[in-house]
Amino acid sequence: MRDFASELETRKQAGLHRTRRLVDGPQQPALTADGKPVLAFCSNDYLGLASHPAVSAALAAAVAGVGVGGAASHLICGHHQAHHRLEQRLAAFTGRSSALFFSTGYMANLGVISALAGRGDTIFSDRLNHASIIDGCILSRAKVKRYPHNDVQVLADQLAQTRGHKLVVTDGVFSMDGDLAPLKELAALCRESDALLVVDDAHGVGVLGTHGGGSLEQLGLSEDEVPLLIGTLGKAVGTSGAFVAGPELLTEYLVQKARTYIYTTAMPPALAEATCAALDIITAEPQRRAHLQRLIKRFRDRTQALGYRLMPSQTPIQPILVGDNWRALELSRRLEEMGLLVTAIRPPTVPEGESRLRVTLSAAHTDAELERLLEGLAQCADLAGA
Ligand SMILES: *Cc1c(COP(=O)(O)O)cnc(C)c1O
Repeated sequence: MRDFASELETRKQAGLHRTRRLVDGPQQPALTADGKPVLAFCSNDYLGLASHPAVSAALAAAVAGVGVGGAASHLICGHHQAHHRLEQRLAAFTGRSSALFFSTGYMANLGVISALAGRGDTIFSDRLNHASIIDGCILSRAKVKRYPHNDVQVLADQLAQTRGHKLVVTDGVFSMDGDLAPLKELAALCRESDALLVVDDAHGVGVLGTHGGGSLEQLGLSEDEVPLLIGTLGKAVGTSGAFVAGPELLTEYLVQKARTYIYTTAMPPALAEATCAALDIITAEPQRRAHLQRLIKRFRDRTQALGYRLMPSQTPIQPILVGDNWRALELSRRLEEMGLLVTAIRPPTVPEGESRLRVTLSAAHTDAELERLLEGLAQCADLAGA
C-alpha cells in the first residue's frame, strides 16, 4: 500500500498542508471561526446575500410549502415547477434563450464539457482555468490543448492547426487572479474558427454588468457571440447550485447528454425559490455593486501605496502576490492575530512560486471594516513586495 502518512508529512514540510476552520453562525464578514470572532476577507459571497433575511425567508416559506428533498433526478420525477421557474428566471437574467439548473458549478463544468466534446475532438483550455474545467476536459476523453493565460494569438495558432470539432473553454473572471478573459477577442476568434465557446463566469455573475448579468453583460456579448455561459449560484448569488445558459438546442442536448445533470438527485426545489429571491435583490439593488466597486478601488489604491504587489484585477478578487509559500502563510497568520481572516493560496491551486493572499471584498463589508484590513496590512508592510 502507498505510504499516505509520509506523503502528508512531506506536504507539511513544504508548507502545503491544508486545514479547515470551523465556522459557526451565519456567513457574513463578522464571522466566528474556530470559536473566535474574526473579520473575513476570503468569502465568495460578493454581494452579502448568503445570510440575507429575504433569501432565508423565501427558503423557509418554500420549505413549508414543498418540503425539503429533491426526491429523484430531473428525468425521473424530480423536475419541479420551482426548478422550471428558476431556469426561466436565469435565462432572462443573463439575456439567453434558455437555462439549465445544475447542482454545483463543479458538476456543471464536468457535465457540459464531457457532453459537448468527446474522443476525436479537441478542447482548448486556458492554463489558469478552474480545476472543475480541467477535470471536465479529462472526463471528456477529448484531446486537450492548454494555451498560455489569455493568449489569444497562441490559441489562434492552435485552432488553425486543428481539424474536427473544437471546443474553447475559459473562466470569465479567473478565480485566483481576478482578471477577465479577453472575451470579445475569444468570441470573434471562435466564430472564425468554427469553435464552440464556453465561458465559466462563476465570479462574474451578480457582480459585473449594469444589471449583474456578469462578464458577458459587461462586454455586451450576445448568445450568438458566446453560445454557452456557465454561472454558479453559491458565490455572488448567495445560495447554491449552478446553471448553463444558451440556445435551446444546446440546453436540450445537455438534458440528453450531461451525465452530471442526468444521474443525480434534483436540488431541493425550495432552494430554487430562494435563488429567485436572491436574483430579485441583485436586480433591484444595484447599489450593492456600486458599493463593492468603491471598496475595490480604495483597497487597490491603499495597498499599492503600502508596497504590496497586486494583480491586474478590477473584480472583488484582489490577490496580494507574495511568492513564497511560508511568507504567504506568515502574512495570513499575522493578519489573523489581528482578527483578520484572509487565506493563503498555495500550489497546486496556483502555480509554483506564486503563493498569494486571496483577498476578496464583498458589498457586505462596511467602509470601517475595509479600514481595519488596511490598517492590518499597514502593520505587516515588512512582508510586502514579492
Ligand atoms: C467555484 C467555481 C466553480 C465551482 O462552482 P461550485 O458551485 O462551487 O461547485 C466552477 N468554476 C469556477 C471558475 C469557480 O470559481
